[in-house]
Amino acid sequence: MPSTLHEQLLAKLAPFFPGKETVGSYVGGELLAGSGAAIKLVDPATGREFLSYPDAGGELVARAARAAVEGQRAWAALTAAQRGRVMYEIGRVVRANLEPLAQLESLSAGKPIRDCRGEVTKVAEMFEYYAGWTDKLHGEVIPVPSGHMNYTRREPFGVLLLITPWNAPVFTCGWNVAPAIAAGNAVLLKPSELTPLSSLALASLAEQAGLPRGVFNVLSGHGHTTGQAAIACPAVKKVVFVGSPATGGKIAAAAAARGIPCVLELGGKSANIVFEDADLTRACIGAQSAIFAAAGQSCVAGSRLLVQRSIYDRFVAMVAEGARRLRTGSPLLPETEVGPIQNARQYGHVLAMIKAGLREGAQVAEGSDGQPAQEGFFVRPTVMKNVRNDMEIARTEVFGPVVVAIPFDTEEEAVAIANDSEFGLAGAVWTHDVARAHRVASLVKAGTFWINTYKVINVASPFGGYDASGYGRSSGTEALREYTQVKSVWVETSAHPAVAFGYAPGIGA
Ligand code: NAD
Repeated sequence: MPSTLHEQLLAKLAPFFPGKETVGSYVGGELLAGSGAAIKLVDPATGREFLSYPDAGGELVARAARAAVEGQRAWAALTAAQRGRVMYEIGRVVRANLEPLAQLESLSAGKPIRDCRGEVTKVAEMFEYYAGWTDKLHGEVIPVPSGHMNYTRREPFGVLLLITPWNAPVFTCGWNVAPAIAAGNAVLLKPSELTPLSSLALASLAEQAGLPRGVFNVLSGHGHTTGQAAIACPAVKKVVFVGSPATGGKIAAAAAARGIPCVLELGGKSANIVFEDADLTRACIGAQSAIFAAAGQSCVAGSRLLVQRSIYDRFVAMVAEGARRLRTGSPLLPETEVGPIQNARQYGHVLAMIKAGLREGAQVAEGSDGQPAQEGFFVRPTVMKNVRNDMEIARTEVFGPVVVAIPFDTEEEAVAIANDSEFGLAGAVWTHDVARAHRVASLVKAGTFWINTYKVINVASPFGGYDASGYGRSSGTEALREYTQVKSVWVETSAHPAVAFGYAPGIGA
């Protein structure tokens, strides 16, 4: 029986890469070691180092780019229906490997096993959903005012670079890879250097399901080394980034220097608005899962809880009581609801933000006062009250299990506070007043908005941000538009074509 976390992880990875005992990058169908410096991984539940692997580095990036170009040719040579069948088979294989994938994710990323099972199931849904789209990506015939036929073709870019964060590694991998390959592209996926394992396993499973080698490559390494080398690769035609706003800016700048487009899925500081007429029991459960699920390490976390003043004390006490009862603990225990913060840097940030809130006059209704845990990167689910929207704790993304409760008096004030943020990723309203619910949904600037619910996300629905939360959409049919480019084709159909120098008559200049 494997004993150390290191041995347990290698044992969990082994079925995906028989005969290999190391972690590296997946390039052209092979698990290869990079040439860069060693990257050390730390177990967030104990704070102890458990694994190291080499950064992919420039040479492996170039090799992956060549493999992706070849892979994309093979993929494009299949019929659209054949590609759909492969995508569907990937979904089936992911379902068949649900438990091993979930365990690998839980162990390597420090996420509660119950969350990981749900996320792996969602990954299967992503491939199944896009399987049905591969043969429905057609162009249009446009009625132009001349004797020509004009039609459009929706074509893949070729090779896409996808860069993902550490908070939901397997989920963001499937979320971006499924639409990208459904649209006929090959991908270079650069997962967070902290959490590459589940992406490596998914790439290997996709090939077992029939995906040609080289279509799905995983480059394990740092952003400033491997990530930047990949952006600079001439084969890369578009970059899709999920991560923090600061890194998004660097990636957009590097892509702009090459004149290639980006999709940016960035952070949030989403407002969860509770009116006095809401079903407070349901709103309370919603408010807790909005912020404490995944220990708040979720881009759409309901981190600003806006509560009508008439119910403020009562409702905040309810949320605090719920927070007290949540079970925090080791990720692999089935009862754990809130796991650790994934890494030391993020842990330091969460504790520092709580202390900043206390310095500015906020009070802890429940949870942490910003002091570190005895072992591991744990933060108790924390509710801060008497918070104003101009405090740092209400403006900066904490990305941890910390919710700030802000009182408001009127609907107008609630909307103004919700919109007084640089971000615009998500938001919610809880009320029985139907007209108010839809009014508020239309007035809050956010890419996703929920009414009497929170955090429902599905691959069929478009997802993305307003303002500093990014641009472009990464799911639903919108993603297929992002991951294809449109070609306009003109055909002469007239028996007596007008011969003209310059613009042909009838079409006009
Ligand atoms: P991060 O920005 O630090 O890193 C994200 C990815 O970018 C990693 O793979 C990293 O290696 C890479 N990277 C870092 N520097 C780079 C560089 N100079 N060039 C190229 N690549 C680089 O983000 P994180 O800390 O891993 O994740 C947390 C952030 O992600 C939060 O802000 C969260 O809100 C956001 N997030 C957004 C969404 C969304 O869909 N909107 C989803 C999940 C997470």
